[in-house]
Amino acid sequence: MAFMNSKYIPVIPAKAGIQKHVIVALALLVVCMLPLTGTGAPRPGTPVVLIDPAHGGEDTGVVSDKLREKDLTLKLALLIRQEAQKKPGLQVQLTRLADRRMTTAERAKMAETMKADCTVSLHVNAGFGKTSTGYEIYFPGFHQEASGGKDASPIIKDMTRNKSLNDSVRLAQQIRSGLETVLPRKGRGLRDAPIPLLEGSTIPGLVVEIGFATNPDDRKKLIEPETQKAIANAIVNSLRNYFSSAP
Ligand SMILES: [Zn+2]
Repeated sequence: MAFMNSKYIPVIPAKAGIQKHVIVALALLVVCMLPLTGTGAPRPGTPVVLIDPAHGGEDTGVVSDKLREKDLTLKLALLIRQEAQKKPGLQVQLTRLADRRMTTAERAKMAETMKADCTVSLHVNAGFGKTSTGYEIYFPGFHQEASGGKDASPIIKDMTRNKSLNDSVRLAQQIRSGLETVLPRKGRGLRDAPIPLLEGSTIPGLVVEIGFATNPDDRKKLIEPETQKAIANAIVNSLRNYFSSAP
């Protein structure tokens, strides 16, 4: 939850801050080396998907009973990567591989640095009561600012932005059909919303709120390893369909 308003306020002393930077730098180095270690040699021409397990570290996200949003998003992200590695044609990278806090800016920068073809940020929802249930898919609204590069003319910028937004909608539709196979009639629709992670970016992307931690049925399902695997499988299939049906 709260992907629209997640600000990181550092509360660590300066010394610890430096140590933290070293740890972050090392972690980024490890992440950057992963394509060489986890999936064999980099495959030029293969689409790159950045999966973003939201929250992490002291930012737990939603906590309800035994479910913690930061853990479930990471578990799903790792399963998605594992599933994608079974067949060629898709390179999956993750914004984080461990339980650590990251700012939105750090996550957004990774998408740019690795030249991701699309970004999918995973969240778990929370409702005010126990009755809200199902998954939601958010794509960036057409009002969202995106830059087509410093020197791009306004027309090129508009074209790039529109292509990226259209691709985000197309991706959202694919992921909805995929999730429908695992969580039938649980879709709460595609929603257009400002997404800070994707602000100013021309990379297509969306946010998937995979279910409500506050709903007992959703929660029970989401902590089942079989359901988690099925969700990961559905998302990978949707991503493959998205790239293979690109206009
Ligand atoms: Zn969240």
